[in-house]
Amino acid sequence: AARSSGENVRVYLPTMGQIFLRRFQLVTQFRQALETGQVKVHYQPKVALPSRQVLGVEALVRWRHPEFGRLDPDEFVPAVEAAGLVDALTGFVMDQSLIRVRKWLDRGLRIAAAVNLSVRSLDDPNFPDRVAEALERHQVPPELLTLELTESGVMADPQRALPVLRRLHTLGVTLAVDDFGTGYSSLAYLRQLPVDEVKIDKSFVLGMGTDLGDLAVVRSIVELGHSLGLIVVAEGVEDDAARDQLAAMGCDVAQGYLISRPLSESRLEAWLQARTT
Ligand code: C2E
Ligand code: CA
Ligand code: CA
Ligand code: CA
Repeated sequence: AARSSGENVRVYLPTMGQIFLRRFQLVTQFRQALETGQVKVHYQPKVALPSRQVLGVEALVRWRHPEFGRLDPDEFVPAVEAAGLVDALTGFVMDQSLIRVRKWLDRGLRIAAAVNLSVRSLDDPNFPDRVAEALERHQVPPELLTLELTESGVMADPQRALPVLRRLHTLGVTLAVDDFGTGYSSLAYLRQLPVDEVKIDKSFVLGMGTDLGDLAVVRSIVELGHSLGLIVVAEGVEDDAARDQLAAMGCDVAQGYLISRPLSESRLEAWLQARTT
């Protein structure tokens, strides 16, 4: 953390030992944190363009740690993945999300949930069976579950990911490629993969108002995505100008602070209530 006062800038950086210790603590405490309610799922709405109809929510995990305070996923998900604990995280987030989707269905609302996967799940031949089992247990139709995988994760070794992706696709869930544009894969290569949705990385969406290069990237992902029959989603939509520009390009779905920040379960319910009544 850095604090600046006048011309004195003092920077307090943890030592390597402290970083290592904290990572170790997080990993050893993670399962218990899941069980004791320290880990919670927040939800960020995804809306159709231009209608603004709520199509779904993305599940984003949060950890309220008794010692370290609120931790964002970037701080602990990589450690959880490296420790081989990501199945417990994915299972927890998927269960919480499917419980919500089921409750909405019972109220006559069709709202999908998107869950972020670790690329490690694609190495697990039993993963599709666990997804099928969760859909069955929660009585949710597969088309109301989206699974998001990062471009860098899938493209690192597409041949290895392919069998599991095919089986997930056969279940009828929606497969999305996240953070698109940040890797070096060609969009044409996506044609080889059984994916339904491409999410333009927020860095391009945030930059498109001021940077012609970012604007060109966004425009070409929308066009090529559509030519491949994919749903195109923009994340990081923070202002009206970006939303209007995306709608004019024909981008299908918007997600970002303009629509809503990620919300706790109860705040999401209030947000939906205000929207749908
Ligand atoms: P992501 O999947 O790319 O998620 C989008 C991130 O962008 C979220 O950060 C969200 O809060 C943030 N965001 C949303 N709208 C805006 C906006 O308008 N402007 C800006 N500047 N940012 C916006 P968050 O929640 O910190 O999540 C970070 C990453 O952690 C996610 O990136 C995802 O890769 C990972 N993650 C989150 N939850 C899970 C999970 O349950 N499992 C796994 N494996 N990874 C997760
Ligand atoms: Ca995501
Ligand atoms: Ca993303
Ligand atoms: Ca990200």
